Amino acid sequence: MKTVRQPWFHTQRIRDDLYCISEPHYTWQNRANLWLIKGRDSDLLIDTGLGVSSLKLYLADLLDKPLKVVASHVHFDHSGGCHEFEQVYIHQNEHHALCSGDQRLILSAPDIGAVPDRDFDAIPYQGFSANHYEVKACPHAQAIEGGDVIDLGDKAFEVMHLPGHSSGSIGLYNTSDQSFFSGDVVYDGELLDKLEDSIVEDYITSMERLLTLKTHEVRPGHYQSFDRRRLQLLIKKYIDEKKAPACPSES
Ligand SMILES: [Zn+2]
Ligand SMILES: [Zn+2]
Repeated sequence: MKTVRQPWFHTQRIRDDLYCISEPHYTWQNRANLWLIKGRDSDLLIDTGLGVSSLKLYLADLLDKPLKVVASHVHFDHSGGCHEFEQVYIHQNEHHALCSGDQRLILSAPDIGAVPDRDFDAIPYQGFSANHYEVKACPHAQAIEGGDVIDLGDKAFEVMHLPGHSSGSIGLYNTSDQSFFSGDVVYDGELLDKLEDSIVEDYITSMERLLTLKTHEVRPGHYQSFDRRRLQLLIKKYIDEKKAPACPSES
């Protein structure tokens, strides 16, 4: 019998204008970083977690301005709570999936049971079971594309379309301080390119683009933040692995 844990989320204050929110009772391998950036005129929330507990209520004390919510991509660990918010954005390639609640793309591999009960060491409410887990549709989400700018008044974020992990994966580049929010495109762990909507060739192209990105601070969708040196190492490792000649017995 698992215990109910509330609040379900945990917040780490990184700076006055930057917070990292996570779901500590969900397995660390798939636990997403949700980034809250405070701006002068509006705030920005990048990703919304699983959607098994109200993120909107949890964040209420931190929110004092209009909130723009951007999903780095449609996968459940990032888009689960989007339906709760009013101003929601997602790349146009995954816009329909989020609006309609397309679980095939959202769970990315539903037949293997992407969200089993064993991934939770506590539950958000009595009676919760991952067996019934689904992400709610977000019919009011708006489509964005590469080159769009999310403006918070005193800082702005350029949308970079970086497909490969999924077709609508984006990164957000803070043009004021050159920090980069990378979603699942690149993080310091095993990168996933064999999901329902992954395309390795696109992933390599996206990675090559990031190799020259001027940034000193990467805020990823999973695991720890890192600097440009580590970013370049992770990119090179991925590209080298993908471009390595296949074993003769396989060709
Ligand atoms: Zn993902
Ligand atoms: Zn993820």
